Amino acid sequence: MASVGGHGIWYSQAFAQGVGHLLALALEILDRDGNPEWRIIVPVVPVVVGLAFALVVVLAFAGSPAVSMTSEAPPAELVAMVELAAPEAEVAVVVEAAAPIPPPTGRRIEASLHSGESLSLLFQRERLSPADLDGIVRSGPIARRLRSIRPGEEITIDVSDDNDVTRLAWQVDVWETVEFARVGDGYEGREVTRPPISKRGIYNATITNNLFVAATRAGLEDEVAMRLADVFRWDVDFITQVRPGDAFRVLIEEHWLEGELREFGPILAAEFTNRGLTHVAVRYENSPGGGIFFNPDGRPLRKSFLKAPLEFTRVSSPFNPSRVHPLWGTRRPHRGTDYAAPTGTPVFATGAGRVTRAGHTAPNGNYVVIRHSGGIETKYLHLSRIETGIKRGTSVKQGDMIGRVGSTGWSTGPHLHYEFVVDGVHRDPVTVELPKSEPIPEVDKHDFLLATAPLLAHLRSPDESNPQLASAFGED
Ligand SMILES: [Zn+2]
Repeated sequence: MASVGGHGIWYSQAFAQGVGHLLALALEILDRDGNPEWRIIVPVVPVVVGLAFALVVVLAFAGSPAVSMTSEAPPAELVAMVELAAPEAEVAVVVEAAAPIPPPTGRRIEASLHSGESLSLLFQRERLSPADLDGIVRSGPIARRLRSIRPGEEITIDVSDDNDVTRLAWQVDVWETVEFARVGDGYEGREVTRPPISKRGIYNATITNNLFVAATRAGLEDEVAMRLADVFRWDVDFITQVRPGDAFRVLIEEHWLEGELREFGPILAAEFTNRGLTHVAVRYENSPGGGIFFNPDGRPLRKSFLKAPLEFTRVSSPFNPSRVHPLWGTRRPHRGTDYAAPTGTPVFATGAGRVTRAGHTAPNGNYVVIRHSGGIETKYLHLSRIETGIKRGTSVKQGDMIGRVGSTGWSTGPHLHYEFVVDGVHRDPVTVELPKSEPIPEVDKHDFLLATAPLLAHLRSPDESNPQLASAFGED
């Protein structure tokens, strides 16, 4: 027993002596021979050891209850402190890398211009030095960009304890920040851009009400729905022909930043099933002329006639089937398609040609007739006005505006009466067979197939569609 106690005392003495030596070395408390000055050191050792022990206890106490008592993550400073206390060098590196912008002292102002406010008013409002703003404005050419800050846009200002502006950053858009950092007595401006990450997404939906509702349900914006309709505007009349049960599937480029989808890029491939018939489009940009969308065989989707003479987005009703003629009470003698649309809606030439008649008659109201190649004529009736310059002999291109929807002539409400006549016979513009467009030349076919096959395969891959669409049908 005594020997154990003796050993204990020996260890304590040896430990105290060791600590004393280190302390002596550190503090240079040495006598003339270079040995530790024990008279000074011995009384100090217990104090130092005691303080060290107390520090360890405090750290442990501060660290553990915060972690164990709440389920939330411990405050960042606490984590940093605990990690810094750990001996591994790599932890210290992580902590350094993970602590970027926030200034160690001072404060950060998250602000934006109020309506009609300038940066100098913002500086006044935040009680910042006009001299600092002057320094920023005079920092160089990048400062000129500050003139285009609009109200509501995010401005971050870091201010030191002395109320000096150390950094001003303006978030231009999701991709770009313009910032000015204090360097010496002045400021340096720079433009920081963050390139998006491009991914590809597949979206699909079945139409229950209209294309916009279906697109929204699929997670697409209206703008994408309009582009989708544009792709198929030579194949589908989106005003009168879209029906519940129609469906689409789109492969589209997505631009991501910081784990968020920020923007849709180009449509890469798409399918639109209209009344049981599926139209397929794939993007191919290496073809001179012929547009950028092709069917899988290499024929351009662009054709000599648009399916509808109006933009479907301008027509209010989701479905616009041919109506019973308001005056005759039957559609039998009435050849053509009636599009109910607000007065003033632009009317487009569905194909290139030459105007043969543009004028007014009692039944037609203001009307335009265009002669196209292949013995085809298109007629546009009841216009509120004919576009300036549209008269007999005028050449028009596909999509040119020729007039606006109205209710002139024998008409009871604003609508466009549109006729499609082939060799003098009225035809249904939706179902009429037209000459097919010229395919991609044989020499370019290999390149076309090489470029488009992966897109079409991706579009058709079964398991990559958006999970939220599983129950898309029948919700609205
Ligand atoms: Zn009509």
